[in-house]
Amino acid sequence: MEFKDLKKQYQILKSDIDCEVERVMTNCNFIAGEEITELEQQLANYVGVKHCIACANGTDALQLALMTWGVGVGDAVFVPDFTFFSSGEAPALLGATPIFVDVEKDTFNISPVSLEQAIKQVIEQGELNPKVIVAVDLFGQTADYRAIRELANQYDLKILEDGAQGFGGASGNKKACSFGDISTTSFFPAKPLGCYGDGGAIFTDNDDWAEELRSLCFHGKGINQYDNIRIGMNSRLDTMQAVILKIKLKQFINYELSAINDVARMYTNALSDIVITPYVEENNFSSWAQYTIICKDKEQRDLIKEKLKKQDIPTMIYYPKGMHEQLAFEDRCIKVGDYENTMYLKDRVLALPIHPYMTKEDVDRVVQEIKKNV
Ligand SMILES: *Cc1c(COP(=O)(O)O)cnc(C)c1O
Repeated sequence: MEFKDLKKQYQILKSDIDCEVERVMTNCNFIAGEEITELEQQLANYVGVKHCIACANGTDALQLALMTWGVGVGDAVFVPDFTFFSSGEAPALLGATPIFVDVEKDTFNISPVSLEQAIKQVIEQGELNPKVIVAVDLFGQTADYRAIRELANQYDLKILEDGAQGFGGASGNKKACSFGDISTTSFFPAKPLGCYGDGGAIFTDNDDWAEELRSLCFHGKGINQYDNIRIGMNSRLDTMQAVILKIKLKQFINYELSAINDVARMYTNALSDIVITPYVEENNFSSWAQYTIICKDKEQRDLIKEKLKKQDIPTMIYYPKGMHEQLAFEDRCIKVGDYENTMYLKDRVLALPIHPYMTKEDVDRVVQEIKKNV
C-alpha cells in the first residue's frame, strides 16, 4: 500500500500531463512565460485573493513574505511548536528570533491563549520587536484565524499564513491561503496539491507587497531582470511544473478534494470508537494533507505502527519532536511555557495512508489491522 499514491494519480492524468510536458520541451520555454501567469491567475481565483506569485518552494515562499516585511535581526516571529521545520527555519534564516508557541490538542494548530502569553512575555522582556505571527494550517485544517486576527490587531502584528498543508481547505466560505496578510503554500509532491518536484506560491491582496514579491523572487529586479533594485533570491517556479499543476489543479477541484474527504469520513466512522480521530472544527473543511490519529500512549502508537508496517501498510509520525527541541534552534529561539500539548501529541500521533484514490478495501485493511492491536 502507498502512503500517498502518486503513481495511480499519474496513470489517470498521464495523457494530459505527457502532452503538456512535451509541449514545454519542444518549445524550450523552461523559465517564466504565459503558463506561469495563467497558473497564477487560476490559483488566485481559486483561493479568492487578488495576487498569486509562484516561486520555487514553500520554504522560499515563507522567506520571501518575511523579506517583504523587512523581518530580520531583533524581530520576534511567533511560530507554532508543532509543525514542519520550515515554519521556524525561514524567520531564523533572516536573523529573526522564532518564539515557539504551544498548539491545541484537538486541532493541532497554534493555541490563541498560548500565543497571547507569548506575545506578552516578549513585550515584557523588551528585547525583541514583535512583528509576525506564522499561523500554520496543519494537516489540512485552517488555524483559528478569528482569534489570531484579533491578537494581530491588538498587538499590531502581521499574519503570515503557512498554508503548505492547508491548500484546498476552507473555513466558512473563505479558502485556505486567503487568511494571512500574506499566505503561502507548497507544491512539494506529497502536499494536497503537489507538482513533480519542488514548487510554491505566495498569495496576497496587497498590491505593493505583490509587486515587491515579484521582484524579490527574481533577483530583486526593477524594470527588467538586468535592473536590480534590491537584494532578492532566485526563486521561480519552472514552466514544466506550472503546466503539470494546471492539469492537477483541475483534477484537485473536480474530484480529489471530495474523494479524499470521503476516505477521511470512512476512517473516522470506523475508528472513532477506538482511537482519537481528527477533529475538524464546525464550519471548517479540511484538505487532509494528513489523516492523523491520536493513540492512547506512545507504547500503543509504536505498536500499531510496527504491526501495520509488517502488513505493508506505511504510516508516518508527524511530528516526532517539538520545534523547541530541535538542535538547530538551540540558542536562537525563545521558549514559552512547557509545551504540554506538543509533548502529548508527539508521542501519540500517527498519520495513516490517505489519498484521493484510496479504495474502501484499502481503508478496511488499515482499519482491521488497527482494531487488532488496540
Ligand atoms: C512542506 C511544508 C513547508 C515547506 O514547503 P517546501 O515546498 O517543502 O519548501 C512549510 N511549511 C509546512 C507546514 C510544510 O508542511
